Amino acid sequence: MRALALGLFLAFAAPVAAPVAAQTLEDPEGTILGQGREDGSESGFRDWVIAFRAKALDQGIPAATYDGAMRGAHYLPDVVARDRRQSEFTKTIWDYLDVAVSDDRVALGRKALAKNADLLDRIEAQYGVEKEIVVAIWGLESAYGTWRGDTPTVSALATLAYDGRRAAFFEGQLLQALQILDAAHVAPEAMLGSWAGAMGHTQFMPSSWADYAVDFDGDGRRDIWGDDPADALASTANYLAKWGWQKGLPWGLEVRLPEGFDYDQTTERVKKPVASWRDLGVRPMAGGALPDGPEASILLPAGHTGPAFLIFPNFQVIEHYNLADAYVIAVGHLADRLQGGAPIAAPWPRHWRALTAEERRELQALLVALGHDTGGVDGRIGPKTIAAVKAWQKAQGLVPDGYPSPDVLQALR
Ligand code: CA
Repeated sequence: MRALALGLFLAFAAPVAAPVAAQTLEDPEGTILGQGREDGSESGFRDWVIAFRAKALDQGIPAATYDGAMRGAHYLPDVVARDRRQSEFTKTIWDYLDVAVSDDRVALGRKALAKNADLLDRIEAQYGVEKEIVVAIWGLESAYGTWRGDTPTVSALATLAYDGRRAAFFEGQLLQALQILDAAHVAPEAMLGSWAGAMGHTQFMPSSWADYAVDFDGDGRRDIWGDDPADALASTANYLAKWGWQKGLPWGLEVRLPEGFDYDQTTERVKKPVASWRDLGVRPMAGGALPDGPEASILLPAGHTGPAFLIFPNFQVIEHYNLADAYVIAVGHLADRLQGGAPIAAPWPRHWRALTAEERRELQALLVALGHDTGGVDGRIGPKTIAAVKAWQKAQGLVPDGYPSPDVLQALR
């Protein structure tokens, strides 16, 4: 799918209008990016198109398909600029959720549910994924189909392959896009999407289309691009089902942690049966006792002064769409709201802003200087950096929640 191995690991970073694009291309901690060319141009791009032709034909793309698709392709400098700019761009999770799960998006989601009720019921019955989850992804990825992106996918992918920061990845996506065109699932001029190559109502990358898209309306084409969302929504349900979605289980649940809770246990990596969390005094925010359930983890997406969630295996299924905690919580919470659930109750630490990329690198450098392993000084906050923050907090006698707040940076200085 879109996220693939590329999901953003920043617990607090997220996109605005086009969730896909801003997040998908952020690499996991430790991934080495190529330099990318500094002399990109249309003429250099044309040379690349000629050079890549042999590779494409070798991979089974017919010459006519390659030549036809590439004749209309262009170097898109804006795509390159956005690809490089995005790692500098972060928001706090609360700023992201304000937009991602706004009252408007909830209201429009309820309308989308009503308008497509029959289709969504059939998809839910066939794939075993709650319709509200499918609709929540639809709402986040394309505002329920109203913003599917207008960048020509072949141009975007060829530009990113030519640029070379992740050449192998984008070459593979481009070849897959050409195969889609060759099989006539979509007309070349209608293959549009995000600047990063994600396409259609739920923003599938071409490789995700290949592995998970379905022809739900039975017209012979797996059409995730057109106005009719049937194939795209069924493809999304199929994607989640294939990754192990368990119908009837929550993605997560806002909880209240007891006094004296051991914050070393607040990581997705610590999993316990729900009964064990209940024994430790974890309670649903809404009151009552935790229901029985499978192994779950405690997640504090904004540190110990913000909301706490008990997260279930379905959380990890949504992560296959996009690894960012902010994204997964947005999908899950929007689905809850579409089912009539309450807003997140605990306040966010809104006095904090997101660290800039430069500040994130500084934070990592300071931790490294103290002997911690942050998985690199690259401004990407992944599990190793979070673990390093936790270890540092613990050594300082602070609550080890791992959240890289401006206060943590200030104290490290
Ligand atoms: Ca179809």
